[in-house]
Amino acid sequence: MQLPDMHAAEPIPDAARTEIERLLRSGDLFRYTAEHDSPVSLLEAEFAEMMGSRFALAVSSCSAALFLSLRALGLSAGARVLIPGFTFAAVPSAVVHAGCVPVLCEVGEDYRISMNDFAHRLKGGIDAVVVSHMRGHTSDMDAIMALCSEADVPVIEDAAHSLGTVWRGRKIGTIGKLGCFSFQSYKMVNAGEGGILITDDADLVARAIIMSGAYEHNWKKHPVLHEAFARWQNQLPLYNLRLSNMSAALIRPQLDALPRRVTDGRRNHDYVAARLNAARYFDVPDPLPGEERAPDSIQFNILELETDQIAAFAALADRKGVKVQVFGQSKDNARAFWNWQFIENLPDLPATRDMLMRACDVRLPVRLTYPELDAVTQVLMDAMKEVTAPDSVAVA
Ligand SMILES: *Cc1c(COP(=O)(O)O)cnc(C)c1O
Repeated sequence: MQLPDMHAAEPIPDAARTEIERLLRSGDLFRYTAEHDSPVSLLEAEFAEMMGSRFALAVSSCSAALFLSLRALGLSAGARVLIPGFTFAAVPSAVVHAGCVPVLCEVGEDYRISMNDFAHRLKGGIDAVVVSHMRGHTSDMDAIMALCSEADVPVIEDAAHSLGTVWRGRKIGTIGKLGCFSFQSYKMVNAGEGGILITDDADLVARAIIMSGAYEHNWKKHPVLHEAFARWQNQLPLYNLRLSNMSAALIRPQLDALPRRVTDGRRNHDYVAARLNAARYFDVPDPLPGEERAPDSIQFNILELETDQIAAFAALADRKGVKVQVFGQSKDNARAFWNWQFIENLPDLPATRDMLMRACDVRLPVRLTYPELDAVTQVLMDAMKEVTAPDSVAVA
């Protein structure tokens, strides 16, 4: 069986072509040129409706959405923002960009926020929380929301990799005050680049809209009560993080494909997870009760082996055609917190560090077929068998 290309995305639906042709012919690429119904405005309306949110604001990336969310909350310079110690470097970067200070908390072997450490750090004076659902793994949102509402601390959900995930009947991204999503190519909906934020709060979205670059009276093209803007006109900086009509034209037809992609991604993930969990040395953590995931990759921990054996396993799988990333074992991994050296007084997080040293990451694009999934799984099994053979010399 031929191994699939693990990085190729699904083709963009044909339905995008007519609109892209129209944009090419008219040159109408800026979201605020049309009086109404620009592709970006339509995307915002459709996305808000799909999520059951009052408002959506499409922007240039999820990082931009996170940055604008933090700025919209009106946090003062030096405000302390609690984030998980396992996430993508874009998250602490957005916090720093917003003039705030990232405070890291521990993440457990199941890739989810350690609630004891979270509760402890929340007591240490926190002004906002960004819950990053890293690789689509949902932390205990009931516990997080209860603690944060008691402490009166706003929660932003980084749902970049969680589009389609449901937590106890609620869509991820709709539970916190604001939710942020990504349309970068490795996410469930692919426009190359792009992001969107959702909220039910008219005042927050008005601030975010102005700062995203709705200069002068362009905010009138957003379906938000005009009173919400009056206070902020000319009072906020314009960061110009808008989305282009071309990106919106790529994204909109993919929203129709989302339910199928979610079902396929979960089926693929659970199929490979069951095979790996039946084998020695592999452990794929279970989702939390009530969590319905939308994965396009798989993460597993390697049990029993030493660090150099884990590195040898990854290198061998790589050589056999399946890229395995051990989060903590490459020098430049953007998901290992000790590489976020732009943070002052970077703390150590021993539990998160231990997890990262044995947690592996393998892409599992939703378009893979069962024979392709079998071929990928077989590579992982074969690599493990070689590394753990009694006469093996584990060298990475
Ligand atoms: C991809 C990703 C981001 C960043 O998204 P961009 O659109 O590339 O800015 C942030 N957080 C998580 C968890 C991600 O997976």
